[in-house]
Amino acid sequence: MKTVKKIIASEKKNLGPKQFVMSPLPNQWVGQISPFIMLDHFGPKYIPAGEPFFVPPHPHRGFAPVTILFEGEVEHKDSVGNIGRIKGGDVQWMTAGSGVVHSEGAPASFSETGGNLHLIQLWINLPAAHKMTAPSYQEIKSSSIPILQEGNAQIRVIAGVYKNLEGPAKTFSPVSLLHVIVPEGEEINIEVVKGFNASYYLTKGETMVDQYEVPEQHLVWLSEQGDSITIKAIRDTELLFMAGEPINERLVSYGPFVMNSKPEIIQAIHDYENGLMGAL
Ligand code: MN
Repeated sequence: MKTVKKIIASEKKNLGPKQFVMSPLPNQWVGQISPFIMLDHFGPKYIPAGEPFFVPPHPHRGFAPVTILFEGEVEHKDSVGNIGRIKGGDVQWMTAGSGVVHSEGAPASFSETGGNLHLIQLWINLPAAHKMTAPSYQEIKSSSIPILQEGNAQIRVIAGVYKNLEGPAKTFSPVSLLHVIVPEGEEINIEVVKGFNASYYLTKGETMVDQYEVPEQHLVWLSEQGDSITIKAIRDTELLFMAGEPINERLVSYGPFVMNSKPEIIQAIHDYENGLMGAL
């Protein structure tokens, strides 16, 4: 059985004057849980009618920014020509690769009426060999995400193979991403492939794990030893379970670029400024 290595509280990160995200990764103690390098949790929050929620065009290179949408609507547009719109339960899996400029936020129709928005943006690193792969965009509809029912709990398999169910996300290194829903009082055992780093983030509820009570908006980093963990829901709980083969390479990041060395970062800034990542 795995044990708890560290419980990490989210820190508030401002997006602008009105909006903020809760972010447990990276933090002052943990730079990454490879291949997972950043987790931002927004909401659940009611966005009033007439209030735009929009991140203007910006670049990325060297990793995959993934948006897991629990509630609301999000639109994506990028310099490669991809346009996508997702709803609650859907996932946007973008591989920035060699570089892309994109905008993301609630579509105009959502902003007109207002509504609840609840999402996670997760940055997943790419191995050096794939950092300069051509950018790609994968829109994963809720209906294509297989669900494993275990007792009264549900495991939605977004990426990786879990108990013979295969998640639809295409990844460049072995990654398992599970959205787990556990009703109050129930417990669930999650299996983890040997050698994978594993952690989970609570978007809702409270869990008991390895004798620790963990409230929502906390990240639980699990030990390398062991191949499963039992999680009990003290209240109705939802969590994102993240596991993956660690990418044992040097990581150098600067803003929206995640590379392996400082010269590669300087090159990324140069390429962006010279329009090589395109424009919107
Ligand atoms: Mn972005």
